[in-house]
Amino acid sequence: AKRRGSGTYQWFSPDLDLDTQQQITLRAQLQEAIQKAQFEVFYQPIVSRSGGIVGVEALVRWAHPERGYISPADFIPLAERTGQIVAIGNWVLEQACKDLATLRESGVAQVSVNFSPMQFYRDDFIETVAGLIKKYAIKPNQLVAEITENVLLRDSAGALRMMAELRELGLEIALDDFGTGFASLSYLNVIPAQKLKIDRCFVQDIDSNSRNAAITRGMLTMAAELGIEVVGEGVETEAERDYLTRYACDFMQGYLFCKPLPLSDLLTWLDHK
Ligand code: C2E
Ligand code: CA
Ligand code: CA
Ligand code: CA
Repeated sequence: AKRRGSGTYQWFSPDLDLDTQQQITLRAQLQEAIQKAQFEVFYQPIVSRSGGIVGVEALVRWAHPERGYISPADFIPLAERTGQIVAIGNWVLEQACKDLATLRESGVAQVSVNFSPMQFYRDDFIETVAGLIKKYAIKPNQLVAEITENVLLRDSAGALRMMAELRELGLEIALDDFGTGFASLSYLNVIPAQKLKIDRCFVQDIDSNSRNAAITRGMLTMAAELGIEVVGEGVETEAERDYLTRYACDFMQGYLFCKPLPLSDLLTWLDHK
């Protein structure tokens, strides 16, 4: 039992024990998945206001031999805690770099990859990125690092130094899930970001939800004044798209345009556009 304030005790419930057991199992299965490279990268288009495809976001899926595709929401949080995200993240990064040549042939100029804070705590991280850029001849602005403000939690000075180095290597930096954290405004001041992604929770029902609309307009105004480009995330309806277009949101991403797809399906989709 754990002692909590003023003499009360909190016991771990059987449910919590089961949770722990499940976590141990999942961790072991993830380890096997890493060894067997049971992951796949799906790509979701990012479109401009005029409808052109400006880039794609790489989103990992776990192709489980029995359970089928497992969503990152179901294993990334644990992988963050165990550190397994570093191996998974590096694998996704290499796959995205490799696929970029094919994507470019289909007119996709940029690929965005989600970078975990854990990756920034590794001393060899910049070396890893630099190695991939060289190996796959990635040119400046072809690769975007999507990061959240959590990157600043543990060692902000170290993370900022690495971001400066990523910029020197030619990567763009996009602030992901903007507006959902505690420090969004203050970290905008320190992170050298070229793009900001407005989280889906603000985009949802933006045409009818006046609070979401006010917050989003505020973010768009601020970003414009700072010279930062904005991506609206999770656009599902034409009304949401039209609202974001009216307020000069630069780019959009969402099921309205296209769901994340395996590379081959994305290429077919691009062909028929
Ligand atoms: P995220 O980076 O915010 O990615 C956007 C998520 O929104 C994706 O979920 C995408 O499929 C989903 N989405 C896109 N458009 C729409 C829409 O119109 N409606 C709705 N409801 N959802 C939409 P996904 O692929 O399940 O990924 C979830 C999260 O897992 C990502 O959120 C990201 O935080 C994390 N993740 C995915 N791949 C990686 C990775 O390779 N590395 C790391 N560190 N995290 C990853
Ligand atoms: Ca993202
Ligand atoms: Ca996001
Ligand atoms: Ca998110």
